[in-house]
Amino acid sequence: MSEENSKFEILLPDGTVYRPEKKETKNTHYITGYDPDGKSKKMKFSTKKDCERCGECCRRDTPIILKEDMPLLIEGIISERDIYTIREGETIRSSIDGEIYYTSMELIKIKPIFGTYTCLFYDPEEGCTIYEKRPSVCRIYECWSQNITLTGIERSRLTRSDLFGKIELLKEVIKKQEEKCSLYRFQDLIEELKKDKSENTDKIAEMILYDLYLRDWLKEKLSISDDVLPLILGRSFLDIAPFFGLIIEREGENFVIKVIEEEE
Ligand code: SF4
Ligand code: SF4
Repeated sequence: MSEENSKFEILLPDGTVYRPEKKETKNTHYITGYDPDGKSKKMKFSTKKDCERCGECCRRDTPIILKEDMPLLIEGIISERDIYTIREGETIRSSIDGEIYYTSMELIKIKPIFGTYTCLFYDPEEGCTIYEKRPSVCRIYECWSQNITLTGIERSRLTRSDLFGKIELLKEVIKKQEEKCSLYRFQDLIEELKKDKSENTDKIAEMILYDLYLRDWLKEKLSISDDVLPLILGRSFLDIAPFFGLIIEREGENFVIKVIEEEE
């Protein structure tokens, strides 16, 4: 579509007419707007009315799994290796503003591709590889709509109790982990450590060891593989520590715990 024959145009307050440039895609347009400081900036807006499978949302975050997605797990569209648990008190990145928050409830999500935020089921060539059977959150999300907030998540989310509630042994292991390795406690110990309470390193190390012990125990007793452990017990302390401002390095049987210096 050339600039001359574009049917899309906006009458700007100064009376000039804005038409999309050639490089703009069918449904995405750019216009010069102003940020709160009055500086001009390019603003993107969309006239989409349907999902075009562009994959933008799939590269931004991975979906939360809801109870109504159980059939996808039963059918094997999504396996126990594809999902992991975000424990209560763990950090989670908002796909809306990109900020990190502590979650007040347990959530089960699809794993991202290692080292990215991109959903495991996203393929750069094909887009979503399970599109016809994608999770409900992906179906509900309409990037072109103003109404993109997911409500009632506390009731509708899938939990480990839905998955393992009838397996006494797993229930007990999860309970023990919460008792001894609570993430709220982990958070408090780190905050105190940052204020020079160095004896907390021993308490943190104890938690790390207990968590690792539970993982090894599950692997040995129930032959649970490494890639399913993040669903049963969430990610290990070694993986999540940087989000809490810590670096934990393992040196043989010992751990080196370092506080990440905050930028001024
Ligand atoms: S819903 Fe996601 S995949 Fe679909 S058009 Fe919007 S950003 Fe792209
Ligand atoms: S399941 Fe499919 S639609 Fe949903 S985020 Fe992943 S790749 Fe995108």
